[in-house]
Parts: sequence; C-alpha cells; structure tokens
Amino acid sequence: MGARLVVPLGRNLVTAFILALHNDLPSNLVDVELRDAQDLVDLEPVCSPEILELARWVADYYACPVGEVIKAALPPGMSPKTRGAAKFIKPKLRRFVRLMERPDDEQKLTDAQQRVLANLESNGPMSLQSLLKTANVSASTVSSLEKKARVKIYDEAVRRDPLAEDFGVKSEEHVLTPAQSSVLTQIEAQMNSGAYGAFLLHGVTGSGKTEIYMRAMQQALSLGRSAMMLVPEIALTPVFSRRLRARFGDQVAIFHSSLQKGERFDEWTRVRNGEARVVIGTRSAVFAPVRNLGLIVVDEEHESSYRQQESPYYNARDVAIVRAQKESATVVLGSATPSLESFHNARKGKYHFVALPERIQSRPMAEAKIVDMRNVFERHGKPRVFSDELLEAIRETRERGEQSIILLNRRGYSSFILCRSCGETVQCPNCDVTLTYHRSERVIVCHYCNHREAVPRVCPSCGKKYIYYVGEGTEQLEEMLKLLFPALRVARIDRDTTARRKVFEQSLADFSAGRIDTLVGTQMLAKGHDFPNVTLVGVVSVDAGLALPDFRSAERTFQLITQVAGRAGRGDRPGRVLIQTYHPYHYALRHACAQDYEGFYEEELRYRQNHSYPPFVALGSLLVHGPDLGRVRNDSLELRKQLDRVNPERRCRMLGPAPAPLSRLKGEHRFQILIKSRTRKSLREVADAALRSVAAGGVNLRSISLEIDPVSMM
Ligand code: ADP
Ligand code: ZN
Repeated sequence: MGARLVVPLGRNLVTAFILALHNDLPSNLVDVELRDAQDLVDLEPVCSPEILELARWVADYYACPVGEVIKAALPPGMSPKTRGAAKFIKPKLRRFVRLMERPDDEQKLTDAQQRVLANLESNGPMSLQSLLKTANVSASTVSSLEKKARVKIYDEAVRRDPLAEDFGVKSEEHVLTPAQSSVLTQIEAQMNSGAYGAFLLHGVTGSGKTEIYMRAMQQALSLGRSAMMLVPEIALTPVFSRRLRARFGDQVAIFHSSLQKGERFDEWTRVRNGEARVVIGTRSAVFAPVRNLGLIVVDEEHESSYRQQESPYYNARDVAIVRAQKESATVVLGSATPSLESFHNARKGKYHFVALPERIQSRPMAEAKIVDMRNVFERHGKPRVFSDELLEAIRETRERGEQSIILLNRRGYSSFILCRSCGETVQCPNCDVTLTYHRSERVIVCHYCNHREAVPRVCPSCGKKYIYYVGEGTEQLEEMLKLLFPALRVARIDRDTTARRKVFEQSLADFSAGRIDTLVGTQMLAKGHDFPNVTLVGVVSVDAGLALPDFRSAERTFQLITQVAGRAGRGDRPGRVLIQTYHPYHYALRHACAQDYEGFYEEELRYRQNHSYPPFVALGSLLVHGPDLGRVRNDSLELRKQLDRVNPERRCRMLGPAPAPLSRLKGEHRFQILIKSRTRKSLREVADAALRSVAAGGVNLRSISLEIDPVSMM
C-alpha cells in the first residue's frame, strides 16, 4: 500500500497509488472491465500508512478527492501524467573515479595519466569534474586509464542541498528567561508524557518564541522522536532555516515550494529514510514522511498562507492538529496575534494557553502612532503619499544611523490607470479587476491572472490621451524615497523582486549588515525578521485592506499592523511606528496601536457572534464558476433551490447566490453561496446532498467548488 503504479486510463498512462488491497473483487466493480497495471514504480511505498490515513482524513473533512491530497503531500514530479516512468524525479548522479588494483605487468603511462593516478592516490575517490581540474587532464585521459583497468568510473547520488550556502548565520543559545522556562517546562512535560496535547503560545513580537521552539525540538530529538516546524512562507525560512541548520546540523530537512524539484525530492528522501529528523517547511511540509513524530510547531499560526487556495483546500494548521492527535505528538501553535479561532479554542480549553507577555530583556514595545491623513489632505489641499511626519521620521532615523521599514501592501507602480476624459479604468480582460502599472517593465499587469499588456498611450475606451495613473505601489514608493533622499540607500522587497530566491536572500542579508538604510515592501516584510537596528516602521496605508468585503478584514489588518510594528525596536534602542490612514478611529487600528490584543479579541468576538461568523458557526462556501454568465447564474440558483430542499429543518442558513466580490476571475464568472451551520457535520450533509441532486440534474460538478472553513471570502 502507498506504492505507485503506472496504469492505463482511457488512452493514456497515468500514475496511481495503491490505497487498498482486495482478495476478491468489491461488489461495485463486478461488472466493470478491468485492465492490468503496466508497471509498479516503487518497491518501497512512497506513502506510509500514517500519511495515507492523514490524507484520507483531509479528503473527507475538506470534501476533496484523496488522490489530490496524496499528490499535494508528495514532492512535485512524483505523479507525472505521462506515458511511462521516464519523467519521474530521480536522485542526482555525479561521476566519480577511483583507483583499481595495480596490475603486475608494467604498463606504459603518459605524464597526464600518471598525474591522474597520483591525484587519486593522495585524495582517494574524486568526482570526475574535480579530478580533471586538479590533474589538469582531459576526459579522454581518464577513460584511457579505465580501458587499462587502472581506474573505475562510476555514478553516485549526490545530495542537492538547498542550504549549501550558509550566509554566515550562527545560532547562539540563550539562557532562558523565567517566562520562557515556564512555557518550555509545560511543553516538555506534555512531550514526556507521550500523549497528544496542544498549546497556543501567545507571545508578543520579540518575546523569544523561536528559542522555545528550538529547545522543544531538541527535546523531541532527545526523546528519540522527530520534530517538525511549519512556517507561513519562504520569507521566513532563509535565515531561520540556516539557524536551525547551525543548531541541528544535517538532521534538518527543508521543504518549500521555491526549492527546485530535485532539491525537494532529495530532502523528502532524507526524511523518509530517517536521515533527517527535523523538518522545517511551508504548508505541505505537514505531510512530510517523518517517523515517530514527537512535536509539531506551527509558527505564526494565524497566517492565511497555511490555507491552500486551490483544491485540496486544506489548512495546514488544522491538519497539524489532527496529525499530532493521530501520532500522539505535541503541537504548539505560536503567534503574536493568534487567530480568533485558535484564541477561542484556547478559551474553551481545547488548547493549553501559554503566554510570553513581555519582550526579551523587558525591551519596550515600539510606540505606535496614527497619522490622520485627512488632516494631511487639508493642510496641503491634495492627497499626499507620505505625510510630513513620516518623511521627517525617515530622515531622523537615517541621521542617527538607524534603519527603517516602509510597508505598503500593494506592489507595482500605480494601482490603476484612469481616463480623465471618459472616466474609464483599464480592466483585465479576464478578471473583474483593474490592471496595475509596473514601470520598470513598462507593462500593465493583472495581479490575479498575470495577464500583461503594453502601457496604453491613449485611453482604450475613448481614444483620448488624458490617461493618468492613480494609487501608488511599492515600486513608486521606492522611487519617491530615492528622489526625496538621494543619500538614502533604499531596497524593495515584494513578489516582483523576490521571484529569485538568491536576490531576496541577498537583500535581507544586505539590510541585516547595514548596507541598506530603508526597506520598502509588502507584507512579506512584516513577519519574523529580526533586525535589531530597525527603529522606525512606517505603514503608508492599510485602508484598502480594511475596506475588503471579507469578515476577516479587521482581524487581518490588526494582525498585519501588530506584526510589522513588532519589527521596530528589537535592539537596544526603542522603536516607533507611524500608521497613515483615513480611518483613524477604526477599532482594528486603535487596538493595534495600543498593543491591546485582548481588547481587540473581545470586540471582534462580539462582532462575530452578532453576525454569526466563525468561530461561532461552521462556514462553507460554494462557488459556482464558468465562462458563461447565464449558465453560472442558473446553476447557482438551482443549487440554492436544492440546498433549501435538503434542509427542511433549517439546520443551516444560506446566503446567496450573489456575485462573488471578485465576480470574474481568469475568464470565469463566479457566484457564491455561503452556508452557516451550528455543526460542520450538518453543513456537510446538506452541501453533499444538494451537490448530488444538482449533479443528477445535469450540472457539472467541476464548475462548483465547496470550501470548508474558507479563509478568503473574495
Ligand atoms: P519572537 O519569535 O517571539 O518574535 P525571537 O525568538 O526572535 O522572538 O527573539 C527575539 C530576540 O531575542 C532574538 O534576537 C533572540 O535571539 C533573542 N533572545 C531570545 N531568547 C533570549 C534569551 N533568553 N536571552 C537573550 N536573548 C534572547
Ligand atoms: Zn486577470
């Protein structure tokens, strides 16, 4: 079980997984034509029984096919849709050369040949590449020696190591503070008991959570078990995974999607073999084939990137909890801004609640202040990107030799193009959004489907030339700062500049070493990084985020501001935070400025309860999508009718169908129905029954996606 087969499907060959073995044909297959499998790919299963069971749970809970979950659980390239096994990922081989026994009879050797033998004698086996270089010979010299049976050329698997460059990262061990010790003691006691237990660790930014994670992982290893740490995205992993490497050596394996396929395969193999017993990785690492799991840490557990935004729609944090339960492990959810759901679970006693309420060495939290942009507008008679306060703060910070971070959650140069003559904006042809101007590439781009076109010279609607650019993005901020402060060394971090991992790591390293004064960027900057010389954080605007039609928009904004504020003042000097907004009295901003988590949770929980949102109800979203608007509308109305029919006792409440906030995406129209229910069980029963009846009525189920516990409502 868990091994791969190549099987015929229609006229193709595809990869399949063995999920169950039967001695007799199951009754539902008696009348079906059976075909033979072509090939068994694995002698050792690629999925252990534990991973198969977990995949089954995910498929069942999130209502998706188990094959999709297994595919998501394995490194990419393991289940190619191909003819035959030619494209399966394989270990990387390198040619090596070693000496053979010296023959009795004398052979005549050239100088070059003798150099080869001498090198192998003093170094032992060498890779062919380095042998050719050090002996300064050509490949034909070595192969002539092979013909004489003096050397042997062979292939050996070499490891593709994503952490091969170490960037000089060290890992110092600290003496724990009393608060840290108390938290660690409780986690260790749970691990020692060998039973499942879950913790929510609420530790303010800079309170030393990471040190606790590392100690707990060490403890798991010393109990002979393995440990896993999930992080939200790659932005966190470069420095951190190197710190783990510095502390745990080769036992660390790293899993994330920006590794090359080969690297991912090798890391996965090392975990499966038991060579690596510490895994750090993003979302899909929760399925890593570690054996004897003792601990899972989910860092920044509130992050929405733990949720996969395509099928299978799983949330790695919730899968981590279930996996820990199944394998009797301890799970630690950590955050400075826990999600409402987890906070609520801790209140109800489902998780042990542990806290680190203060920063290390009692460093003060940064002082946060709101800059009311309505006043700035009045003062200047026109909108400004940077308030005088923020500009002054950037200048002062630089003069003191300190660093600043400027955040704006919008990449590109301007957010859209507007025609002053006809009032039209330039829209994506496939999506219901405006195109964003990217000046350095001279294109306008859709941030949802990546459609690109040249910047228009005249308005595409009316042909006049009065087009102008509205709303600024990170690219423009970077340029403005360079113009305003020619001596300021500015760099930018967002998805445009971080497509290449090395460039991204280099920017972070430069900032860390003080070669850059100011980092401009999107939310990628908000998390995890520890730069002691940063004393100023400026938030240019959060208003777009607050205005999103999503019940989590206040929570997200609160988290974003609290997290980015946590980047300031982590060293010896106190930090300050300036938040520019046109909504200075919004409760998410007020509580974030006051660093008042509990205050925010109380207010937000009341709101969720009054409006029946999670965590007080189970939520499901049914999205009907397709290229034909009339059909999408009709199918969604039919779906609603069936939902009402199978819900006679009104166990669920339905909303919709209504056009989704993003009513068109990648060429498809989208209608949404929300289901709210007291229990997830009745939600699933109602949704499944309705889906069955619309399918029986001829609706293609591929055009409907059911999301359980949706994270984004867009
Ligand atoms: P968090 O993850 O909670 O934001 P970190 O774990 O990054 O906080 O810790 C903040 C800083 O404090 C880091 O520079 C870390 O090396 C340091 N630190 C952590 N624990 C201790 C300790 N016990 N004594 C001194 N410094 C510590
Ligand atoms: Zn688009």
